[in-house]
Amino acid sequence: MTTPITLIPGDGVGPEVTAAAVQVLEAAGARLEFEERTAGMVAVEELNTPLPEETLDSIRRTGVALKGPLATPVGAGFRSVNVAIRKEFDLYANVRPALTLVPGGRYEDIDLVLIRENTEGLYVGVEHFIGLEGDPKAAAESVMIVTRFGAERVLRYAFEYARSRGRRKVTLAHKANILKCTQGLFLDVGREVAKEYEGEVEFEDRIIDACAMHLVVDPYQFDVLVMENMFGDILSDLMAGLVGGMGMAPAANIGKHAAMFEAVHGSAPDIAGKGVVNPTAFILSACLMLDHIDQGETAARIRRAVATVYQEEGLRTYDLGGAASTGDFAEAVIRNLPS
Ligand code: NAD
Repeated sequence: MTTPITLIPGDGVGPEVTAAAVQVLEAAGARLEFEERTAGMVAVEELNTPLPEETLDSIRRTGVALKGPLATPVGAGFRSVNVAIRKEFDLYANVRPALTLVPGGRYEDIDLVLIRENTEGLYVGVEHFIGLEGDPKAAAESVMIVTRFGAERVLRYAFEYARSRGRRKVTLAHKANILKCTQGLFLDVGREVAKEYEGEVEFEDRIIDACAMHLVVDPYQFDVLVMENMFGDILSDLMAGLVGGMGMAPAANIGKHAAMFEAVHGSAPDIAGKGVVNPTAFILSACLMLDHIDQGETAARIRRAVATVYQEEGLRTYDLGGAASTGDFAEAVIRNLPS
Protein backbone atom coordinates (compact mmCIF):
# COMPACT_ATOMS: atom_id res chain seq x y z
CA MET A 1 0.00 0.00 0.00
CA THR A 2 2.79 2.45 -0.84
CA THR A 3 2.25 5.43 -3.15
CA PRO A 4 4.81 5.95 -5.93
CA ILE A 5 6.29 9.46 -5.93
CA THR A 6 8.68 11.10 -8.39
CA LEU A 7 11.50 12.58 -6.33
CA ILE A 8 13.60 15.30 -7.97
CA PRO A 9 16.44 16.49 -5.70
CA GLY A 10 17.24 19.43 -8.00
CA ASP A 11 20.02 22.01 -7.89
CA GLY A 12 22.03 23.85 -5.25
CA VAL A 13 20.61 23.13 -1.79
CA GLY A 14 18.02 20.78 -3.37
CA PRO A 15 19.82 17.51 -2.55
CA GLU A 16 20.34 18.68 1.07
CA VAL A 17 16.70 19.58 1.76
CA THR A 18 15.52 16.49 -0.11
CA ALA A 19 17.73 14.18 1.97
CA ALA A 20 16.45 15.79 5.18
CA ALA A 21 12.81 15.45 4.12
CA VAL A 22 13.21 11.82 2.99
CA GLN A 23 14.79 10.96 6.35
CA VAL A 24 11.83 12.55 8.16
CA LEU A 25 9.24 10.91 5.87
CA GLU A 26 10.79 7.49 6.40
CA ALA A 27 11.02 7.93 10.17
CA ALA A 28 7.38 9.04 10.28
CA GLY A 29 6.33 5.89 8.43
CA ALA A 30 5.02 7.59 5.28
CA ARG A 31 3.98 4.91 2.83
CA LEU A 32 5.94 6.07 -0.21
CA GLU A 33 7.95 4.51 -2.97
CA PHE A 34 10.38 7.01 -4.47
CA GLU A 35 11.27 7.10 -8.15
CA GLU A 36 14.29 9.42 -8.15
CA ARG A 37 14.69 11.46 -11.33
CA THR A 38 16.79 14.41 -12.40
CA ALA A 39 16.06 17.94 -13.72
CA GLY A 40 17.67 21.38 -13.81
CA MET A 41 21.36 22.24 -14.12
CA VAL A 42 22.32 18.79 -12.79
CA ALA A 43 20.41 17.23 -15.69
CA VAL A 44 22.04 19.61 -18.19
CA GLU A 45 25.45 18.46 -16.99
CA GLU A 46 24.55 14.76 -16.94
CA LEU A 47 22.10 14.39 -19.83
CA ASN A 48 22.40 17.66 -21.78
CA THR A 49 18.80 18.66 -21.16
CA PRO A 50 17.24 20.49 -18.18
CA LEU A 51 14.08 18.38 -18.31
CA PRO A 52 14.76 14.78 -19.40
CA GLU A 53 11.94 12.75 -20.90
CA GLU A 54 12.42 10.03 -18.20
CA THR A 55 11.57 12.62 -15.56
CA LEU A 56 8.40 13.66 -17.36
CA ASP A 57 7.48 10.00 -17.93
CA SER A 58 7.88 9.28 -14.23
CA ILE A 59 5.57 12.19 -13.26
CA ARG A 60 3.06 11.03 -15.89
CA ARG A 61 3.09 7.62 -14.24
CA THR A 62 3.02 8.65 -10.58
CA GLY A 63 0.98 11.87 -10.90
CA VAL A 64 2.86 13.24 -7.87
CA ALA A 65 6.27 14.90 -7.73
CA LEU A 66 8.30 16.12 -4.76
CA LYS A 67 10.78 18.52 -6.28
CA GLY A 68 13.81 20.38 -5.00
CA PRO A 69 14.58 23.84 -6.39
CA LEU A 70 15.83 24.09 -9.96
CA ALA A 71 18.20 26.87 -11.04
CA THR A 72 17.25 28.96 -14.05
CA PRO A 73 19.86 31.05 -15.85
CA VAL A 74 18.95 34.78 -15.72
CA GLY A 75 18.43 36.56 -19.06
CA ALA A 76 19.83 33.94 -21.45
CA GLY A 77 19.83 30.11 -21.56
CA PHE A 78 16.93 27.71 -21.15
CA ARG A 79 13.56 28.88 -19.92
CA SER A 80 12.50 27.98 -16.39
CA VAL A 81 12.11 24.22 -15.95
CA ASN A 82 9.72 24.92 -13.09
CA VAL A 83 7.45 26.82 -15.46
CA ALA A 84 7.84 24.03 -18.05
CA ILE A 85 6.74 21.34 -15.55
CA ARG A 86 3.79 23.45 -14.40
CA LYS A 87 2.74 23.89 -18.04
CA GLU A 88 3.33 20.28 -19.09
CA PHE A 89 1.06 18.97 -16.34
CA ASP A 90 -1.28 21.97 -16.33
CA LEU A 91 -0.66 22.59 -12.61
CA TYR A 92 -2.94 25.60 -12.52
CA ALA A 93 -3.17 26.34 -8.79
CA ASN A 94 -0.08 27.17 -6.78
CA VAL A 95 -0.98 26.95 -3.10
CA ARG A 96 1.41 28.72 -0.73
CA PRO A 97 0.54 28.68 2.98
CA ALA A 98 2.27 31.03 5.43
CA LEU A 99 1.93 29.81 9.01
CA THR A 100 3.76 31.02 12.12
CA LEU A 101 5.86 28.25 13.65
CA VAL A 102 8.73 30.27 15.05
CA PRO A 103 7.71 32.36 18.06
CA GLY A 104 9.15 35.81 18.66
CA GLY A 105 8.95 37.15 15.12
CA ARG A 106 7.40 40.40 13.99
CA TYR A 107 3.96 38.77 14.16
CA GLU A 108 2.55 35.77 16.02
CA ASP A 109 -0.19 33.44 14.79
CA ILE A 110 -0.05 34.22 11.08
CA ASP A 111 -2.18 31.76 9.15
CA LEU A 112 -2.54 32.82 5.52
CA VAL A 113 -2.79 30.95 2.23
CA LEU A 114 -1.95 32.48 -1.11
CA ILE A 115 -3.33 30.78 -4.21
CA ARG A 116 -1.51 31.86 -7.32
CA GLU A 117 -2.69 31.28 -10.90
CA ASN A 118 0.12 29.13 -12.24
CA THR A 119 -0.26 28.78 -16.02
CA GLU A 120 -1.19 32.18 -17.46
CA GLY A 121 -0.62 35.85 -16.66
CA LEU A 122 2.77 37.40 -17.34
CA TYR A 123 4.59 34.06 -17.04
CA VAL A 124 3.20 32.56 -20.26
CA GLY A 125 6.56 33.41 -21.80
CA VAL A 126 5.15 35.35 -24.75
CA GLU A 127 7.91 37.92 -25.02
CA HIS A 128 10.40 39.18 -27.56
CA PHE A 129 12.88 41.91 -28.37
CA ILE A 130 12.13 44.53 -30.98
CA GLY A 131 15.06 45.73 -33.10
CA LEU A 132 15.38 49.35 -34.14
CA GLU A 133 18.07 51.30 -35.98
CA GLY A 134 20.68 48.54 -35.73
CA ASP A 135 19.98 47.81 -32.05
CA PRO A 136 18.50 44.27 -31.89
CA LYS A 137 17.34 44.95 -28.34
CA ALA A 138 15.97 48.47 -28.73
CA ALA A 139 12.77 47.38 -26.99
CA ALA A 140 11.25 44.32 -25.37
CA GLU A 141 7.68 43.22 -24.98
CA SER A 142 5.99 40.70 -22.66
CA VAL A 143 2.35 39.72 -22.90
CA MET A 144 0.01 39.05 -19.97
CA ILE A 145 -2.63 36.51 -20.90
CA VAL A 146 -5.76 35.93 -18.86
CA THR A 147 -8.48 33.61 -20.10
CA ARG A 148 -11.94 33.22 -18.61
CA PHE A 149 -11.27 29.46 -18.37
CA GLY A 150 -7.92 29.93 -16.58
CA ALA A 151 -9.24 32.60 -14.23
CA GLU A 152 -12.40 30.70 -13.40
CA ARG A 153 -10.71 27.42 -12.48
CA VAL A 154 -8.15 29.01 -10.14
CA LEU A 155 -10.75 31.29 -8.55
CA ARG A 156 -13.07 28.35 -8.03
CA TYR A 157 -10.15 26.40 -6.55
CA ALA A 158 -9.58 29.26 -4.08
CA PHE A 159 -13.22 29.34 -3.00
CA GLU A 160 -13.43 25.55 -2.73
CA TYR A 161 -10.18 25.56 -0.74
CA ALA A 162 -11.62 28.17 1.64
CA ARG A 163 -14.98 26.45 2.01
CA SER A 164 -13.61 22.94 2.53
CA ARG A 165 -11.21 24.14 5.24
CA GLY A 166 -13.65 26.41 7.04
CA ARG A 167 -11.80 29.57 6.08
CA ARG A 168 -13.79 32.76 6.24
CA LYS A 169 -12.65 34.99 3.37
CA VAL A 170 -11.13 35.09 -0.10
CA THR A 171 -9.32 38.27 -1.16
CA LEU A 172 -8.73 38.74 -4.87
CA ALA A 173 -5.70 41.01 -5.40
CA HIS A 174 -5.44 42.64 -8.83
CA LYS A 175 -4.39 45.66 -10.86
CA ALA A 176 -7.66 46.16 -12.73
CA ASN A 177 -7.43 49.94 -12.34
CA ILE A 178 -4.52 49.99 -14.83
CA LEU A 179 -4.68 46.65 -16.68
CA LYS A 180 -8.36 46.98 -17.48
CA CYS A 181 -8.62 44.03 -19.89
CA THR A 182 -6.46 41.29 -18.35
CA GLN A 183 -6.85 42.16 -14.69
CA GLY A 184 -10.37 43.45 -15.33
CA LEU A 185 -11.37 40.03 -16.68
CA PHE A 186 -9.76 38.25 -13.70
CA LEU A 187 -11.72 40.52 -11.33
CA ASP A 188 -15.01 40.14 -13.24
CA VAL A 189 -14.71 36.35 -13.14
CA GLY A 190 -13.84 36.54 -9.44
CA ARG A 191 -17.00 38.52 -8.71
CA GLU A 192 -19.10 35.98 -10.65
CA VAL A 193 -17.58 32.96 -8.89
CA ALA A 194 -17.88 34.69 -5.49
CA LYS A 195 -21.69 34.89 -5.90
CA GLU A 196 -21.87 31.07 -5.83
CA TYR A 197 -20.27 31.07 -2.37
CA GLU A 198 -22.28 33.94 -0.87
CA GLY A 199 -23.17 33.26 2.75
CA GLU A 200 -20.37 30.67 3.03
CA VAL A 201 -17.16 32.45 2.08
CA GLU A 202 -16.75 36.23 2.26
CA PHE A 203 -15.23 37.93 -0.79
CA GLU A 204 -13.32 41.17 -1.26
CA ASP A 205 -10.97 42.59 -3.86
CA ARG A 206 -7.90 44.75 -3.31
CA ILE A 207 -5.50 46.52 -5.61
CA ILE A 208 -2.27 44.55 -5.49
CA ASP A 209 0.07 47.33 -4.34
CA ALA A 210 -2.24 48.37 -1.50
CA CYS A 211 -2.65 44.69 -0.64
CA ALA A 212 1.15 44.35 -0.27
CA MET A 213 1.18 47.28 2.15
CA HIS A 214 -1.79 45.95 4.14
CA LEU A 215 -0.16 42.51 4.39
CA VAL A 216 2.85 44.09 6.10
CA VAL A 217 0.89 46.47 8.34
CA ASP A 218 -1.98 44.19 9.40
CA PRO A 219 -1.81 40.65 7.97
CA TYR A 220 -4.61 39.44 10.26
CA GLN A 221 -7.26 41.06 8.06
CA PHE A 222 -6.53 38.45 5.36
CA ASP A 223 -7.23 34.74 5.11
CA VAL A 224 -7.06 33.17 1.62
CA LEU A 225 -5.65 35.35 -1.18
CA VAL A 226 -5.88 34.64 -4.91
CA MET A 227 -4.15 36.42 -7.77
CA GLU A 228 -2.37 36.38 -11.14
CA ASN A 229 0.85 34.41 -11.61
CA MET A 230 3.56 37.07 -11.17
CA PHE A 231 1.67 38.99 -8.48
CA GLY A 232 1.38 35.72 -6.56
CA ASP A 233 5.06 34.94 -7.02
CA ILE A 234 6.03 38.27 -5.47
CA LEU A 235 3.44 38.44 -2.69
CA SER A 236 4.09 34.87 -1.56
CA ASP A 237 7.73 35.80 -0.86
CA LEU A 238 6.45 38.76 1.14
CA MET A 239 4.21 36.40 3.09
CA ALA A 240 7.14 34.02 3.68
CA GLY A 241 8.88 37.03 5.24
CA LEU A 242 6.00 37.38 7.72
CA VAL A 243 6.70 33.91 9.14
CA GLY A 244 10.50 33.82 9.18
CA GLY A 245 11.65 33.90 5.57
CA MET A 246 12.26 31.56 2.66
CA GLY A 247 13.18 28.65 4.89
CA MET A 248 9.60 28.47 6.16
CA ALA A 249 7.46 28.59 2.99
CA PRO A 250 6.09 25.40 1.37
CA ALA A 251 4.11 25.13 -1.86
CA ALA A 252 1.82 22.79 -3.76
CA ASN A 253 1.21 22.98 -7.51
CA ILE A 254 -2.12 21.37 -8.22
CA GLY A 255 -3.55 20.19 -11.54
CA LYS A 256 -6.39 17.92 -12.54
CA HIS A 257 -4.18 14.90 -13.23
CA ALA A 258 -0.92 15.64 -11.42
CA ALA A 259 0.52 17.64 -8.54
CA MET A 260 4.00 18.83 -7.67
CA PHE A 261 5.24 19.83 -4.24
CA GLU A 262 8.24 22.10 -3.68
CA ALA A 263 9.55 24.80 -1.37
CA VAL A 264 8.95 28.42 -2.41
CA HIS A 265 12.68 29.12 -2.17
CA GLY A 266 15.20 28.61 -4.96
CA SER A 267 18.49 26.71 -5.17
CA ALA A 268 20.24 29.17 -2.78
CA PRO A 269 23.65 28.86 -4.51
CA ASP A 270 25.25 31.07 -1.83
CA ILE A 271 24.81 28.35 0.83
CA ALA A 272 24.69 25.16 -1.27
CA GLY A 273 26.86 22.30 -0.04
CA LYS A 274 27.47 23.88 3.38
CA GLY A 275 24.92 21.79 5.26
CA VAL A 276 23.24 24.88 6.71
CA VAL A 277 20.09 25.24 4.62
CA ASN A 278 16.84 25.29 6.59
CA PRO A 279 14.89 22.20 5.44
CA THR A 280 11.58 23.28 7.06
CA ALA A 281 10.00 24.63 3.85
CA PHE A 282 10.75 21.40 2.02
CA ILE A 283 9.62 19.17 4.89
CA LEU A 284 6.35 21.16 5.03
CA SER A 285 6.00 20.79 1.24
CA ALA A 286 6.32 17.03 1.73
CA CYS A 287 3.49 17.33 4.30
CA LEU A 288 1.29 19.06 1.71
CA MET A 289 2.07 16.10 -0.55
CA LEU A 290 1.05 13.63 2.17
CA ASP A 291 -2.25 15.53 2.60
CA HIS A 292 -2.79 15.24 -1.16
CA ILE A 293 -2.26 11.46 -1.25
CA ASP A 294 -4.49 10.77 1.77
CA GLN A 295 -1.67 10.33 4.27
CA GLY A 296 -2.77 13.42 6.21
CA GLU A 297 -2.28 11.72 9.59
CA THR A 298 1.43 11.27 8.91
CA ALA A 299 1.60 14.89 7.71
CA ALA A 300 -0.02 16.05 10.96
CA ARG A 301 2.54 14.11 13.04
CA ILE A 302 5.44 15.65 11.11
CA ARG A 303 3.96 19.16 11.45
CA ARG A 304 3.56 18.62 15.20
CA ALA A 305 7.19 17.54 15.46
CA VAL A 306 8.38 20.60 13.48
CA ALA A 307 6.34 22.88 15.75
CA THR A 308 7.83 21.20 18.84
CA VAL A 309 11.36 21.69 17.51
CA TYR A 310 10.71 25.42 17.10
CA GLN A 311 8.54 26.06 20.11
CA GLU A 312 9.97 23.75 22.76
CA GLU A 313 13.48 22.76 21.72
CA GLY A 314 14.22 26.23 20.33
CA LEU A 315 16.47 24.75 17.64
CA ARG A 316 17.22 27.22 14.80
CA THR A 317 19.15 27.09 11.53
CA TYR A 318 21.33 30.09 10.59
CA ASP A 319 18.57 31.95 8.68
CA LEU A 320 16.62 32.20 11.96
CA GLY A 321 19.63 33.25 13.99
CA GLY A 322 20.74 29.77 15.13
CA ALA A 323 23.62 27.43 14.41
CA ALA A 324 21.84 24.12 13.81
CA SER A 325 22.80 22.29 10.63
CA THR A 326 20.32 20.86 8.14
CA GLY A 327 21.03 17.39 9.56
CA ASP A 328 20.59 18.57 13.18
CA PHE A 329 17.18 19.95 12.27
CA ALA A 330 16.03 16.75 10.54
CA GLU A 331 17.21 14.66 13.51
CA ALA A 332 15.36 16.93 15.95
CA VAL A 333 12.14 16.57 13.95
CA ILE A 334 12.54 12.78 13.96
CA ARG A 335 13.24 12.79 17.71
CA ASN A 336 10.02 14.73 18.33
CA LEU A 337 7.69 12.69 16.12
CA PRO A 338 4.63 11.81 18.21
CA SER A 339 4.03 8.07 18.35
P1 NAD B 1 16.74 31.68 -3.39
O1 NAD B 1 15.42 31.41 -2.78
O2 NAD B 1 17.49 30.51 -3.91
O3 NAD B 1 17.66 32.45 -2.34
C1 NAD B 1 17.36 33.74 -1.81
C2 NAD B 1 18.11 33.92 -0.47
O4 NAD B 1 17.45 33.17 0.54
C3 NAD B 1 19.55 33.41 -0.49
O5 NAD B 1 20.35 34.24 0.29
C4 NAD B 1 19.45 32.02 0.12
O6 NAD B 1 20.63 31.59 0.76
C5 NAD B 1 18.32 32.23 1.14
N1 NAD B 1 17.56 30.98 1.31
C6 NAD B 1 16.69 30.43 0.42
N2 NAD B 1 16.18 29.32 0.91
C7 NAD B 1 16.71 29.14 2.13
C8 NAD B 1 16.56 28.13 3.14
N3 NAD B 1 15.74 27.09 2.97
N4 NAD B 1 17.30 28.25 4.27
C9 NAD B 1 18.12 29.29 4.45
N5 NAD B 1 18.30 30.28 3.55
C10 NAD B 1 17.60 30.19 2.40
O7 NAD B 1 16.49 32.73 -4.57
P2 NAD B 1 17.45 33.23 -5.73
O8 NAD B 1 18.85 33.40 -5.20
O9 NAD B 1 16.75 34.38 -6.34
O10 NAD B 1 17.44 32.06 -6.80
C11 NAD B 1 18.49 31.09 -6.96
C12 NAD B 1 18.11 30.16 -8.09
O11 NAD B 1 16.93 29.40 -7.74
C13 NAD B 1 17.78 30.85 -9.41
O12 NAD B 1 18.36 30.11 -10.47
C14 NAD B 1 16.27 30.82 -9.49
O13 NAD B 1 15.80 30.82 -10.80
C15 NAD B 1 15.98 29.49 -8.80
N6 NAD B 1 14.63 29.41 -8.19
C16 NAD B 1 14.00 28.23 -8.28
C17 NAD B 1 12.75 28.07 -7.68
C18 NAD B 1 12.07 26.74 -7.78
O14 NAD B 1 12.70 25.76 -8.14
N7 NAD B 1 10.80 26.66 -7.47
C19 NAD B 1 12.19 29.13 -6.97
C20 NAD B 1 12.88 30.33 -6.86
C21 NAD B 1 14.10 30.47 -7.49
